[in-house]
Amino acid sequence: MKLSWTPYNLLLKHTFTISGFSRTTTPVVITKIEYDGLTGYGEASLPPYLDESQSTVIDFLRKVNLSGFNDPTDIEEILYYVDSITSNNAAAKASVDIALHDLAGKILGVPCYKMFGLDKSDVPDTTFTIGIDNDEVVRDKTREAKNLFNILKVKVGGQDDKRMIKAIRSITDLPLSVDANQGWTDRSEALDMIFWLKEQGVVMVEQPMPKNDLDNIALLTEKSPLPIFADESLQRLTDIERLKGVFSGVNIKLMKCTGINEALKIRKRAKDLGMKVMMGCMTETSCAISAASQIYSGMDFADLDGALLINNDCFNGSALENGKIIASDMPGIGVTLKQPIL
Ligand code: MG
Repeated sequence: MKLSWTPYNLLLKHTFTISGFSRTTTPVVITKIEYDGLTGYGEASLPPYLDESQSTVIDFLRKVNLSGFNDPTDIEEILYYVDSITSNNAAAKASVDIALHDLAGKILGVPCYKMFGLDKSDVPDTTFTIGIDNDEVVRDKTREAKNLFNILKVKVGGQDDKRMIKAIRSITDLPLSVDANQGWTDRSEALDMIFWLKEQGVVMVEQPMPKNDLDNIALLTEKSPLPIFADESLQRLTDIERLKGVFSGVNIKLMKCTGINEALKIRKRAKDLGMKVMMGCMTETSCAISAASQIYSGMDFADLDGALLINNDCFNGSALENGKIIASDMPGIGVTLKQPIL
C-alpha cells in the first residue's frame, strides 16, 4: 500500500461568515492509497478555526507507515495503528480512513454503504447553509436555494439572529435549522430565542452555547421546545457519554472523529443512548462529502452542503437529488477525480 498526498485550496462561492469569523477559502489535503492497481481517495478539510493545517496534516501523513499491512480490507487493525501515532490530528486521520474505505470498497467491488448494509436512499434532506450577511444578500441566497433544498440552515449566535430569520422568511416558508456555533452565552436569553425560533418554523438548534458549558446546556435542552444538537461539544467517540442528558442529539463529522470507522461507532452509541444523530461536514470536496453520504442512512438530519459551497470541486461523486445528497453506485466512496491533481 502506497500513501501519497497533495495540498489543495478550496475557493468558496461566497464569503462565509459564522459567529465570530469570515473567510473565502478553505485549505484541504487530498490523499490517495494505491494497492494492486487500485486507488482509494481521501481528504482532510482544515477550516482555520480548528487546530490543524496543511503542514500539520502532511507532517502526520509522513509518519504513517502502511508497509506492515498486507490487506487493505483489515480496516479496523490499520486504523487502530493510524490513530495510535498521535493523540490529535483528527482530520489527517480521516484522510487516511476515507482513502482506505474507498480502496476497500474498490477491492470488494461494492459501494461503502453496501459494505455496511445501509440503504443509500433512506436519508434525510440536507440543509443548505445561509451565512450571516446583509438582508439583500440573504434574500438572494434564499431565492437561489429555495427550489433546490427542502430545509435551510441559518448561522445565528449574534446580534443579527432575528433579522436573518425575517429576511429568509420574506422569501420562503421552508423549515429551518439554526446553528449558533456556541454564540449564545446567557441561558434564559437563549431559551427565549429558541421559543421565538420555533414560532418561525425552525426545527432544530445546533450548539447554542459554549462547548464546555454542559450544565447550562442541559438545563436549556430540558426546557427547549426544539431538539438541541452538539457539534463543537462532540469530537470523538469518547466524548459522547458525558453528553447524554445534555443534548438531544449529536452532529457527527468525519473531520472531527477521524473518519468513517469511528463515525459509525458514534452513530451506534448515540442511538443506544437514545440520542438523535445528524451527519455534518466542513467545506470540503465531493470526496469527503461522498464518504459521509455512504453512512447517513437512517439519521435524523443532514448538513452535507460542503461541496456545493465551493467553485473548484476536484471530484465527481455523490450528488444533490430532490434536496438529498445521494451516493453514486460506483465502488468505495463513489468518486472520480476530475483533474489529475495527484
Ligand atoms: Mg455546527
